[in-house]
Amino acid sequence: MTAQFDVVVVGAGPGGLAAATVSAEAGLRVCVVDDNPAAGGQIWRGQTESNGRARSWLARLQATQATVWNGLRVVDLAAEKRLRLEGASGGCDLLFDKLIVATGARERFLPFPGWTLPGVMGAGGAQALLKAGLKVQGRRAVVAGSGPLLLAVAASLRTHGAQVAAVCEQAPLRRLVRFGAGLWRHAGKLAEGVQYQLQSRFAPYRTNCWVARAEGAGKLERVVLTNGRRQWTVACDLLACGFNLVPNLELPLLLGCRVEEGLIQVDARQQSSCENVFCVGELTGVGGLDKALLEGQIAGWAAARDAQRVQALQRGLKKQKQFARRLEEAFALRPELRLLPEADTLVCRCEDVPYVALCGRSGWRDAKLRSRVGMGACQGRVCGAAAEFLFGWQKRDRRPPVFPATVATMAGEENNRN
Ligand SMILES: Cc1cc2nc3c(=O)[nH]c(=O)nc-3n(C[C@H](O)[C@H](O)[C@H](O)COP(=O)(O)OP(=O)(O)OC[C@H]3O[C@@H](n4cnc5c(N)ncnc54)[C@H](O)[C@@H]3O)c2cc1C
Repeated sequence: MTAQFDVVVVGAGPGGLAAATVSAEAGLRVCVVDDNPAAGGQIWRGQTESNGRARSWLARLQATQATVWNGLRVVDLAAEKRLRLEGASGGCDLLFDKLIVATGARERFLPFPGWTLPGVMGAGGAQALLKAGLKVQGRRAVVAGSGPLLLAVAASLRTHGAQVAAVCEQAPLRRLVRFGAGLWRHAGKLAEGVQYQLQSRFAPYRTNCWVARAEGAGKLERVVLTNGRRQWTVACDLLACGFNLVPNLELPLLLGCRVEEGLIQVDARQQSSCENVFCVGELTGVGGLDKALLEGQIAGWAAARDAQRVQALQRGLKKQKQFARRLEEAFALRPELRLLPEADTLVCRCEDVPYVALCGRSGWRDAKLRSRVGMGACQGRVCGAAAEFLFGWQKRDRRPPVFPATVATMAGEENNRN
């Protein structure tokens, strides 16, 4: 099957929903596509009914003529202005005049001894599982890594009945104090932080602190924490650990969009270096919900050539971009984290590649060719971001498919044909 639209939006998180809504309201023929079974992206996760802002954006979108396709992922750029998609029932192609990419971010895991034990999971992963109904009643959890997401995860764990023994933030106190002092400009974010603290019942929050290793016989029983000077042990059966977010750049890279310092470069209309390709949300700087919503609207209005509305949103966006920069500075990762893996610590869990197999390699490609790192099911989504931090490599693959796909889809066979 092949379908054609004025605007195709990839990703139905806040950025994509806002972009699709305003461009459809402006009268364009719009299709928004997302690989999840329901709209909402990482933050709303299909639970759009229980969240006021999510509900109102979805209601606005549903009031338009926009087409919403869930359960389909974009895997390739089949030809100019032609995306190839794959879902449970096969592949199809989408033709577009303008493309808005809102593929969001994923969390960064860093390997440390014991990180593959059952009971250890990503902080954002834990959050997603809790929203999907994971039972944690009576479990004793440690939340660790870096970024404001840790507070949200601690609050969710506590709300779902877990005891939160500690929240360990690797950033030093002085940077967080500076970050906190600037939050008066962002009253909503400050209120959110206080709300998370209340929900987590003021779980002990340690700065300058990270996990040195996770231990247990066959499953997680304790973590060894460190502040770089001494180590101590905390008993727990759940560790939620993530080190900030990294943008999902695979599709914009495939399209040829310019990337600098890990972020897609866009102009004031959110247009990337490729004409008629707009990028919004976490792709242009990890800044959270409000930034994604604003950028989505700007791209949507830009696609509809409404320069006045684009201009009207610039001031609000400037403030959100400042917040994104402050986040990046405050939660920058400390170099000591590069020393955590031991020789036999797995870095690539899909292909069982240990740390030692990557040492001495000249870059991501060399490491890939010699060790199969990043060549498994996740295609380097997890280990690639870790390797970038551990070794300073640049992982800038521009190769299809964006996600693993069947040969039939890639060949555009049968049901892909008109
Ligand atoms: C695991 C995780 C949990 C998070 N939890 C919270 C939280 O609890 N609270 C909070 O404030 N913030 C949370 N965040 C941050 C939050 O994601 C962002 O602040 C915000 O949602 C960004 O919106 P976005 O539209 O840019 O991207 P997202 O919300 O990430 O939406 C991107 C969407 O694009 C889809 N997609 C990506 N690639 C393709 C493709 N090729 N084809 C089709 N669809 C595709 C994704 O499945 C996703 O649905 C979380 C982030 C992550 C990674």
